[in-house]
Amino acid sequence: MGDVTVIGLGAMGTALARAFLSAGKTTVVWNRTSAKADVLRDAGAEVALSAAEAVAASPVLVMCLSDCAATRSILEDEAVAEIVAGRLVVQLASGTSREARAMAAWAAKRGADFLDGAISAWPSQIGGADAAILIAGPETTFTSATALLKALAGSLVHVGPDVGHAKALFGAALAYYAAHWIGFSHGAVICEAEGLDPARFGELMAGSAPFFADDMRRMGRVIATNSFSAPESTIASVRADIARLVEVSDDLEIGADFPTFAASVFQRAVDAGYGAEEHCAVTKVLRGTSPHQRRPVQGSFV
Ligand code: NAP
Repeated sequence: MGDVTVIGLGAMGTALARAFLSAGKTTVVWNRTSAKADVLRDAGAEVALSAAEAVAASPVLVMCLSDCAATRSILEDEAVAEIVAGRLVVQLASGTSREARAMAAWAAKRGADFLDGAISAWPSQIGGADAAILIAGPETTFTSATALLKALAGSLVHVGPDVGHAKALFGAALAYYAAHWIGFSHGAVICEAEGLDPARFGELMAGSAPFFADDMRRMGRVIATNSFSAPESTIASVRADIARLVEVSDDLEIGADFPTFAASVFQRAVDAGYGAEEHCAVTKVLRGTSPHQRRPVQGSFV
């Protein structure tokens, strides 16, 4: 019997299996394209011949396929579904909170324990201090799996009992990364147009990390308490700065897609009467109309 089975041996699944092996865990692996298991066999893993054989081999199944649909296609295969009862499924493929909750419901019907996770690390970081994995699901299940899953990431964070919350937080972080990636790239295009070195721009921005960390903590507190009326900087001033960025982009004859979009969001906030409020009052125009937009906060995870 293995300590753990890893299903899905892409870049990430392979890194997960390697981390378990490095931690001395008896590791069973399976992948649809069997050749990808060869390198892990050489590293000491046991290679199963089918998904059902892999599931039967261990009490804990770590699944890291492309997405939740692929995970379900493996789990719901009758040969697997019949033997999943009594095991713990740790689902690490990317997806949505809705998909995570649906899989947890399926697992419960089949008598399996279920945790859902979101990986914030590159494959090369897995097993090291810089890797972070968020895990959602029942506290007792998380506690029972902690010793094993610690092999994967220096930061293993239980985000609460709602099994959708790892994916929800990953989506929240991705929203930030999306703006960060596009914003940085637009800044690099300005540098190129002005004869500045984008690499030096990267170094300069890295040096601003403490400022951004402080701003994120402050914005989180301000939004959580809905108290936007003691601003360090206002919606109106940020809107003016970003509107100017559209002009700068036009002057330099570079694309203005990102500043045009950002300026339009801040303009909506000004038009809605929030100009004198803290810059993150832009949240108010982003909330939308869903009745679920502000559920009561469930516990703390940091
Ligand atoms: P990948 O290299 O593309 O590997 C995808 C894996 O899914 C392969 O093992 C593939 O099998 C398997 N697969 C896909 N559809 C399948 C199906 N219908 N049936 C059976 N197996 C199927 O992807 P990855 O980089 O390992 O990423 C895996 C997950 O981790 C993704 O959800 C990704 O978003 C997440 N993640 C990745 C990173 C990263 O940096 N790589 C970081 C954070 C999170 P075959 O080999 O047979 O095609």
